Amino acid sequence: MAYDQNNIFAKILRKEAPCFPVYEDDMTLAFMDVMPQAEGHTLVIPKFPAENLFDLDPEYAGAMAKTTKKIAAAVKEAFAAPGILIAQLNGAAAGQTVFHIHTHIIPRSQGIDLKLHARELADFEELKRHAERIRKALG
Ligand code: AMP
Repeated sequence: MAYDQNNIFAKILRKEAPCFPVYEDDMTLAFMDVMPQAEGHTLVIPKFPAENLFDLDPEYAGAMAKTTKKIAAAVKEAFAAPGILIAQLNGAAAGQTVFHIHTHIIPRSQGIDLKLHARELADFEELKRHAERIRKALG
């Protein structure tokens, strides 16, 4: 399947759609997931038009991994999370719903179940506050 330039993350990269940003550099962007599976659920995307890992330029794969590590540490601190789940889905069969590659960074605590994937829109004021918390942890 060809990369769809009108997928929502492509629009966010072109600033045609809004997001709650936490970090940006030349090769990547990190922002809050609007239907979080846990408080602090953050996404990292490369600034490269790839649907999935198999289409991604290796240099951007490296940049995405580097940003994921950096943001995961900030999310862990900001939400005092004992665990962090990193997920990256490739293809509809794997559960992928937005076809611009991204990593999920999801705080985990024992005994607290994850909410369903991409199901319930969060309160935008709360997402704004969460993004601020993560930016603060990034220093
Ligand atoms: P995946 O199913 O791995 O492709 O994940 C896509 C993720 O993007 C889901 O967790 C959605 O909640 C999230 N999502 C969808 N639209 C937006 C959006 N406009 N801004 C932020 N996150 C989004």
